[in-house]
Amino acid sequence: MRKCLAGRRDSDERRADTTGTNNKDTHTAKSTAAQRSTEWLTSRASRQTSKRYIVAPVAATSTRETAVGRSLWADQVSDVATRASLAGDRRTDVAIVGAGYTGLWTAHSLLRAKPGLRVIIIEADHVGAGASGVNGGWCVGELAGGLGAAVSLAERRTGSTDDGARLTREIMSTVDEIGRVAHDEGIECNFTKGGVLRLARTAPQLARQQAEVTEHRHHGFGSNDIELLNADAATARLNATDVLGGMWYSAGARIHPARLVHGLAAAVERRGGEIVERTRATRISAGQPASVTTTNGTVTADVVVRAVEGFTRTLSGHRRTLLPFSSSMIATEPLPPEVWESIGLAARETFADDRRMVIYGQRTADDRIAFGGRGAPYRYGSKIIENKGPQAIHDRITATLHQLLPATRDAAITHRWGGVLGIPRDWQPSVGIDRSSGLAWAGGFVGEGVAASNLAGRTAADLILERDTDLVSLPWVDHVSPRWEPEPLRWLGVTTFLKLTTQADAAEQRTGRASRRGALVDRLR
Ligand SMILES: Cc1cc2nc3c(=O)[nH]c(=O)nc-3n(C[C@H](O)[C@H](O)[C@H](O)COP(=O)(O)OP(=O)(O)OC[C@H]3O[C@@H](n4cnc5c(N)ncnc54)[C@H](O)[C@@H]3O)c2cc1C
Repeated sequence: MRKCLAGRRDSDERRADTTGTNNKDTHTAKSTAAQRSTEWLTSRASRQTSKRYIVAPVAATSTRETAVGRSLWADQVSDVATRASLAGDRRTDVAIVGAGYTGLWTAHSLLRAKPGLRVIIIEADHVGAGASGVNGGWCVGELAGGLGAAVSLAERRTGSTDDGARLTREIMSTVDEIGRVAHDEGIECNFTKGGVLRLARTAPQLARQQAEVTEHRHHGFGSNDIELLNADAATARLNATDVLGGMWYSAGARIHPARLVHGLAAAVERRGGEIVERTRATRISAGQPASVTTTNGTVTADVVVRAVEGFTRTLSGHRRTLLPFSSSMIATEPLPPEVWESIGLAARETFADDRRMVIYGQRTADDRIAFGGRGAPYRYGSKIIENKGPQAIHDRITATLHQLLPATRDAAITHRWGGVLGIPRDWQPSVGIDRSSGLAWAGGFVGEGVAASNLAGRTAADLILERDTDLVSLPWVDHVSPRWEPEPLRWLGVTTFLKLTTQADAAEQRTGRASRRGALVDRLR
């Protein structure tokens, strides 16, 4: 599979009943509802001269289209704390570079296990400025590459495929752990565990899903964990076009990304952690103590944790450690109940189909669709482009949403934004520590880091505190990915890979047969 509690009080209570026993009737009802809602939206568009329906405009180009650069999530958080910058040199127990989920979960786990430990988080911009503040809000219990990647990693590292299944079970249960901590810490991040729905919209997608479920069964995962859906069952959950079937994965929750990251930062501070903002690390150095050189002074610490994901290349010596890669998102205005009756997602499943160029969506707590995808070009030299503004890629993502869910066609797109994620050369996330150098790291989540950052943070804390837990023997611990190739090879390779991926998806949609290019893409990553 590729890609907290406040939401239950608002529109989540208005669950649409999309289940029907007679599929033909259901379809008819849905088309009528879709037609009704389209009419509703059209009539609404014509009377929409005021800004009544525009939520949180940033720089409106018209009353129905909000120009962007700022995420929906950022517009929905208020009272965000601003913090002081580092003021000169400091000595501490643990220094963490990066105040996204990874850095914050590491700090939270350290302070939970050892109150009184001195922990400083060094952040170049502000809490949640990276992917953690802008992502799709899929909290999915899976690591990049899924069970298959975990099993082959385990085979290579421990010789036991069971360890791959163990890693997968740990990441699956991490979804509940996040819900639990959010509840205990009073973080209202709209956590709703409705699972992940992946539609199959071509025959090759269907075949890939069947193979994936078979692999899960082989490793002991039951139908409570993952199950295939026939076309009717998949459509009953999400009334999309061209549905041939689908897959439901239980370990998935919808969250509000920015509320989670800001709530987590506050929880870390309540436990005694310190966060400094607008303080850029330029170099992390091994030693006893290890150190972080920043724009505002040097922090020395027993252990320094690198947790900057898509921005890793900005640190001295890490130009080729992780590839920065853009992902882009849009959000619709809130959709009315009759549109939701036709669309579905009654259980707030996060959703996608199974094309290779990843797409992802969620029904937000205020009944919008937040929808994203990859496919922005790779920039030579791993230049970081967060795709914040309106770009061709946002138009493509909008068109994809409209193809998938025609009932959204007339809804205003109120936000377009983007962010940067990090990809290791072997697409294998990891967490680890080198005790002799005092350096630890976590990341390389390839766009699946919402849950994985929690598992990585808990594991990093156990490693730092030298605790002999089940987590520290998981096969991703201390795995070191190879470095990316130097330019221009890197540009050539990544650009070709992106092109092949798009072509493979198009060919499979056109012919309904598995594409040879797709097989090549699968081998390359
Ligand atoms: C648009 C988008 C959608 C996504 N959707 C999903 C999803 O639905 N589900 C999912 O599981 N994953 C998703 N991801 C990936 C997920 O958001 C990330 O894997 C996760 O947030 C990584 O967290 P992090 O803390 O490691 O990195 P980040 O959140 O990127 O945090 C790194 C922090 O380090 C700071 N920093 C950078 N350089 C320095 C420096 N030199 N010194 C100090 N600080 C520095 C940054 O400002 C940033 O705050 C998405 C990513 C993007 C971009």
